[in-house]
Order: sequence, then structure tokens, then C-alpha cells
Amino acid sequence: MNFDWSDLISAINALQDTPPTPGIDDAELQAQFRVQSALRKALLCVPNDRLKADQYPQYLRRVLGKPPSPDIIRLVEKAQRGGKVSDDLYRELEIRQNCRCACCGIVLSKNARPQVDHIHPVAFGGESAPGNYQLLCSKCNLGKKASLHWVMAAPFFSTREIKSTSVSARYCILAKYQGKCAADGCTSTARDEELFVDQIIPSQEGGRPIFDNLQVLCRHHHDQEINRLQIKASRAVSAATKYRGAKKFSF
Ligand SMILES: [Zn+2]
Ligand SMILES: [Zn+2]
Repeated sequence: MNFDWSDLISAINALQDTPPTPGIDDAELQAQFRVQSALRKALLCVPNDRLKADQYPQYLRRVLGKPPSPDIIRLVEKAQRGGKVSDDLYRELEIRQNCRCACCGIVLSKNARPQVDHIHPVAFGGESAPGNYQLLCSKCNLGKKASLHWVMAAPFFSTREIKSTSVSARYCILAKYQGKCAADGCTSTARDEELFVDQIIPSQEGGRPIFDNLQVLCRHHHDQEINRLQIKASRAVSAATKYRGAKKFSF
């Protein structure tokens, strides 16, 4: 196995530069595939908790099939978990994020049960440093777990439809759209308001709740879509009533 952490970083950057499309196109699919392949290799490089730091080089030699470079050893070494951050740092994070969850934009009140998250997970060598912290609501944090990238946790190949309660799918979509509303020309982000995960083609129009049929919308566009569907449904009802009336009349 030939693996370089820079493969993973460049694959992630390339995917980030590929804008999420309504539905999916080949460029995005290929970018996702490259991240998935690189992540698989990276995952294999991270040993479990039983291994002590001085055993890492031996482990990596076995996984990589060659002596590991100091860079790889350093990345694989577990960073110390920082525990709770200080009140001052917490306040700094709140200011940085406009008091909203970095992922879904919900206001970080007590109800959102905010949690301090390592952007780059500790399990992947992420540091317990201010630059690597963010505040997430408990739902987003639960969905993220220790994912290095949303492609890791995205339920692409499941034949089952995604349940609306799946926190993991919800997180993956929010992260895929980088906390921005997908509506044309809309500039709303998680920094300014709460975002919602919606189906691109709604169930009423034949769309299934699978990963590539989900997108992120701001409240305005989410409500607009609900109104559109309600109007359509009420028109369908009145058309059906008219039809029944006409039928009755003909008798
Ligand atoms: Zn959130
Ligand atoms: Zn919007």
C-alpha cells in the first residue's frame, strides 16, 4: 500500500472545490470517490487504543509496507485530549461563530446543548488547540462523531432510504453544502441563520429520501418550498372535487 497524507488532503481540497450540484454529476462523484479511497487508507494508518506510541512505527511499517516518514508518525500520534476549554476560550468561540452552531446555524442556547468539537478529530491527530475547536449543537456533534470528512459517514450505498431522524445523514448533508443555502443566488449561511435539510425532488413528486436527493436550505427557501407543495396539494384537492362534482352532475 502506498499512502501519503498529502493524497488525502489534496483529495479533500479537490472535493471542496467541486460545488455540490442538485442531483449529482460525474465530477463530484469522482471527487467523492477519491476522498473515500484516501480516507480508507488513512483509517488503516490509525491504530486502536491498545497500541502505545512507541509501537506506531512498527504498525505503520506493516500497514504501509515501508518504513513510515516522521510526518506520518507525527500525524498518527494521538494528541492529548484537552478536556473542557476555558470560559474565555468558549466565549471567543461563541463570538467567532456568531453564537450559532458552525454546522447547522441553530442558536447555541441551552436547548441546543452546545458542545466543543475538534474540527480535525483527535483520532486523526487533531490538536487540542483554539484553531482546531468549534462549537456544534449536540445533534450535529452526534452526527459528526469522529469523522474526518463527511464522505466518511455519508450513507451513499445504502439501499435503504434515509430516515429523517438520521443525525449522521443530516450532518453529512450540512457539511457537504458547507453550511450554505443551496437555493440559486441565496447568500444565507450557518453564520447568520438556521439551515434545514430538504429533499431536492420532494416525495410528493416522486423523489426518494436518498443521500444525493438531499440539500440544505435556509428558512426562507425551506418555507417557500413547503408553501409551493401546499398550494399544489390544495389545487389537486380542488381539481378532484370539481371532477367529482362534474361526475355527480352528469348523473
Ligand atoms: Zn448544529
Ligand atoms: Zn436560501
